[in-house]
Amino acid sequence: MKLDVDVLRYLTKEDFRVLTAVEMGMRNHEIVPAELVERIAALKHGGTYKVMKNLLKHKLLHHDASKYDGFRLTYLGYDFLAIKTLVNRGVFAAVGRQLGVGKESDIFEVATEDGTVMAMKLHRLGRTSFRAVKSKRDYLKHRSSFNWLYLSRLAALREFSFMKALEEHGFPVPNAIDCNRHCVIMSLVPGYPLVQVKQLANPEVVFNTIIGLVVRLAEHGLIHCDFNEFNIMIDDDEKITMIDFPQMVSVSHRNAQMYFDRDVECVFKFFSKRFNMSFHECTADIDGTAVDTDDSGRPSFTSIAKDTGFLDKELSASGFTKKDQDEIAKFIEGGIKNDASSDDESIEDDEQTSVLNEADTMGVDSLHLVDQNDEQIELERNVRTCEAGPSSEPENDDGSTEDGDNETVNNDNDAELEKRLNKVRRRAVTAARGGRKTFASRNTYKDKGGKSSNSSKIQRHLSSW
Ligand code: ADP
Ligand code: MG
Repeated sequence: MKLDVDVLRYLTKEDFRVLTAVEMGMRNHEIVPAELVERIAALKHGGTYKVMKNLLKHKLLHHDASKYDGFRLTYLGYDFLAIKTLVNRGVFAAVGRQLGVGKESDIFEVATEDGTVMAMKLHRLGRTSFRAVKSKRDYLKHRSSFNWLYLSRLAALREFSFMKALEEHGFPVPNAIDCNRHCVIMSLVPGYPLVQVKQLANPEVVFNTIIGLVVRLAEHGLIHCDFNEFNIMIDDDEKITMIDFPQMVSVSHRNAQMYFDRDVECVFKFFSKRFNMSFHECTADIDGTAVDTDDSGRPSFTSIAKDTGFLDKELSASGFTKKDQDEIAKFIEGGIKNDASSDDESIEDDEQTSVLNEADTMGVDSLHLVDQNDEQIELERNVRTCEAGPSSEPENDDGSTEDGDNETVNNDNDAELEKRLNKVRRRAVTAARGGRKTFASRNTYKDKGGKSSNSSKIQRHLSSW
């Protein structure tokens, strides 16, 4: 997906105000009635329609007149809201070239004012192969509504939390820097995905390190579930970094054994094919510790002592509601069950399709409230006023309005809503800030973020906002 950040520089305050109004409206409406956008944005001199036309032109909004005249955010609109929030927070100041296209994400370089380059991952759930979408859709068909933006936001928060926790427990992962909406900022990993590497100086060492990681993850209570040559980065010194964690599951998951075995099998298959390795002589000793293996040298899930870190339990207590967890877990499971191996990653680009347009985009939750400024507080007030008063707003087919968690909001009860918003806010602060207590500590990113020598490649500077 093209991310033309040049457009960002030409967007006015009003443009962002209206874009934010649409986002807020999407908490209760799949398609936000144009009139409601106007009332939430409440531009001083009117002109919301003109602004919406401009946002449409830049593909930040999608117009839908099938039931009534309304709008929803596109992924690009969502990208811009996240990028602007992170730039305002001072996390980065410029967006550079695209680093990678994942199955369900786009990765870009971003840079701070002083030239520190980091990686920005924009989650794009819903953009995937027909096959995977079908399996996910099978799960989704019993739901009355579904929202890719909401799930992308959950996936990003999940990945950010996992990355942070894994880093704290000494796993070789990127440094988790910040997270907003569907966007995760992390340190730039040097090197390449293992899939691009044709030769290794020490294939046995690399192999044992990688299998050792799968085992150590299980000891800490987690299974990666997509552990393959696309999600392992390796640098010139053959140092390994693992990436891509939104789909991880706990070792207590009912299919844990199957996922573990599949991760192990992916590594065995790849090393056997690419580096002609045979495994009888390897793996008895991983990370200096003996690991029980079966006859073929594969580590055995049942004999791993899964009590080193209880990371799975720590994480489940870290800011996700049980409902969020279940939501994303079911969705992801629909995907991982069918992504039998890394073979799926070889799906050609032209086989990929964006299903965003057909997708229902109802109920975007509001994690961005972490960064609420005066304007957002004002817009929130407008949302409450608009949604609480007697309204002629179109409703869903069944006459109800819904929010992102599929609970009915009691619009008459401001106190209740306020309580909920505060809860979301607190949850987001805990999850997004993680162990980071003070704002000042963000400066330490500069020391961790990666090579500053790449800064000249960063063309599109956003500091003019
Ligand atoms: P997906 O979940 O869509 O598979 P990934 O997290 O695996 O996305 O990222 C896709 C690609 O982007 C990777 O294969 C890698 O080439 C690149 N990439 C991802 N994260 C980083 C990073 N922190 N530093 C450098 N490159 C990265
Ligand atoms: Mg990946």
